[in-house]
Amino acid sequence: MSKKKVLVAGGAGFLGSHLCEKYIENDFEVICMDNLITGNADNVKHLFNNPDFSFVKYDVTNFVHVSGKLDLVLNFASPASPIDYLKMPIQTLKVGSLGVHKTLGLAKEKGARYLLASTSEVYGDPLMHPQHEDYWGNVNPIGFRGVYDEAKRFAEAMTMAYHRFHNLDTRIVRIFNTYGPRMRLEDGRALPTFVGQALRGDDITVFGDGSQTRSFCFVDDLIEGIYRLSMSDEIYPVNIGNPAEITIKEFAEEIVSLTGSKSRIVYKELPKDDPQVRQPDISKAREVLGWEPKVNRTEGLKRTLKYFEELILKS
Ligand code: UDP
Repeated sequence: MSKKKVLVAGGAGFLGSHLCEKYIENDFEVICMDNLITGNADNVKHLFNNPDFSFVKYDVTNFVHVSGKLDLVLNFASPASPIDYLKMPIQTLKVGSLGVHKTLGLAKEKGARYLLASTSEVYGDPLMHPQHEDYWGNVNPIGFRGVYDEAKRFAEAMTMAYHRFHNLDTRIVRIFNTYGPRMRLEDGRALPTFVGQALRGDDITVFGDGSQTRSFCFVDDLIEGIYRLSMSDEIYPVNIGNPAEITIKEFAEEIVSLTGSKSRIVYKELPKDDPQVRQPDISKAREVLGWEPKVNRTEGLKRTLKYFEELILKS
């Protein structure tokens, strides 16, 4: 019997590259597709000699063709860090709309299951805490972050429309803040920025007074949750994240202490529409996927630091 075949759109990105590995380990043949605007072929180069892996440089906002059968489409194509989508607002909206449409069309054509990477950003600056999947969110459609948040909200609507109208077998994961090896040091997000600053001894730039909260999930836990969702029967969105909530100020202090850095914390203006709180309610993931995170922040941060230290040494 031939292996199951999965297309990972955005497969050379932070999460995509871990997914490529995960599905290869689980006996899938993997096609990794990425236009490399924020992804990096280095993230998957260790897979290039694997006969079950192939890489296609392609922008999924155009018609997507894959020859032969396809069992699963994982759509992880999008800029995902605030500075990236602020720099590329139109591409972000295009990949979240046209890219979702094209990859859904491909899944329909192939009779493949489709999993959409959605986000906690669909909850915006949430008025419900922690965020449960039933919450509809508080997003400013014309704000700077709207290009990402609204694209993902549209993507969810489009995915459900394909499910309801075309009977497509779909899954939606709402991903909360995630960290780990293969994040880009310069992607502007809190963790790589703080780690880079701490390792170089530069000031740590906390935005606002640092009282805003996030809940950080180690990448291996997240990937396991996504894998389980892709194998489950759950059609409606599922939050995957680590509920361990922390203020950004405490997070910065934790990184300073873990790195033994002499860096001091300085405070900069809070970006507009920056969510004040964020914490996933993962009761649904626990119930329907039997999943919960296993790696605590200290352990996860140690593994991530090791990656960044090696990266800095190499550069
Ligand atoms: N942040 C910060 N300093 C930085 C980068 C980010 O204080 O150099 C803050 C940011 O304002 C937000 C939190 O850290 O409140 C998490 O930001 P990130 O970009 O990692 O992800 P978000 O959850 O906002 O998408």
